[in-house]
Amino acid sequence: MTNDPSALQRAEQALRAAGVDALLLGPGADLRYLTGYLALPLERLTLLVVRADGDHHLVVPTLERPRAEAAGLPEELRLHDVGETGDPYAVAARCLDGAVGRLGAGDQLWSMFLLGLQQAMPGASWTRASAVMRELRMRKTPDEVDALRRAGQAIDRVHAQVPGLLRAGRSEAEVGRDIAEAILAEGHSEVDFVIVGSGPNGASPHHETADRVLADGDGVVIDIGGTLDAYHSDCTRNYVLGDPPEGYTQAHAALQVAQDAACNAVRPGVTASSVDAAARQVLTEAGYGEFFVHRTGHGIGLDGHEEPYIVAGNELVLEPGMAFSIEPGVYVPGRYGMRIEDIVVVTEYGGERLNHGERAAVPV
Ligand code: ZN
Ligand code: ZN
Ligand code: ZN
Repeated sequence: MTNDPSALQRAEQALRAAGVDALLLGPGADLRYLTGYLALPLERLTLLVVRADGDHHLVVPTLERPRAEAAGLPEELRLHDVGETGDPYAVAARCLDGAVGRLGAGDQLWSMFLLGLQQAMPGASWTRASAVMRELRMRKTPDEVDALRRAGQAIDRVHAQVPGLLRAGRSEAEVGRDIAEAILAEGHSEVDFVIVGSGPNGASPHHETADRVLADGDGVVIDIGGTLDAYHSDCTRNYVLGDPPEGYTQAHAALQVAQDAACNAVRPGVTASSVDAAARQVLTEAGYGEFFVHRTGHGIGLDGHEEPYIVAGNELVLEPGMAFSIEPGVYVPGRYGMRIEDIVVVTEYGGERLNHGERAAVPV
């Protein structure tokens, strides 16, 4: 596949199509996507300058130069380092040859850097780099889909171990520490998050872990993710200790139908909002609409949350290669919460789920 355009070459094309002269990107997923370099987010400026004319530059603090060189940077990239007393903004301006036209500032470029760049490039007009980068990163290459698939398999193996970790008398925090260990043991290089929401704690979608001790009759939401070969996993399943609380079984059955409906709605040519609507309609008709308090999903890749967002009002048309979560939930304040989450990739034929573990509430 050596004749495929590199990520930098595809960025040049996207820049020209968008009428943007250059991207200025700080450390983060965009920079890594284009160069392979995992730059540290420091108070010293690291800046990738991607020009529509193909003349690309990376400005790094001098002490970061060895790490940048060790990253195996693309050959067409010119590396500049700036010492402790140098002016990185002047160096960045020189990388543009004074030809400051329309510039795309990285979405995650810190405001102190952006303000410095704006001062050094007074003639420029500015837009968000995502106007260009989203077009690249939203459509995953086969290699990226493979990485997401491996991450999905790894997190599935962790969920398979969860029933053995849940017992009345253990705290959410204890269970969470064991799960974090398993996330690493199954091949992730990093633990991104561990949510163990037992009983009423499950009703807060982004609850992490607390000192609450698990008890018989608890529904437990487990939402976990890590990083594997730079790509993220993210998967939610629900577990029940002993007899489920009143209403739980019916709610979970409706949730499973809703999650299936949204997964089955995925195919090229449909809008992101229609996938959200597929899940929402099932839950609304079953009487749980008011308890489904968030969007149906988020894109996933080098960032854990990225475009496309599966949300009402997003009329983006899905295309093969797009990857996102499908994660409807039901949250009953003071009682319990539940969410079923799979990562789904759009293929020519429909949606391919990258998570395969049991979706019914698992009794433990
Ligand atoms: Zn979330
Ligand atoms: Zn999740
Ligand atoms: Zn998610």
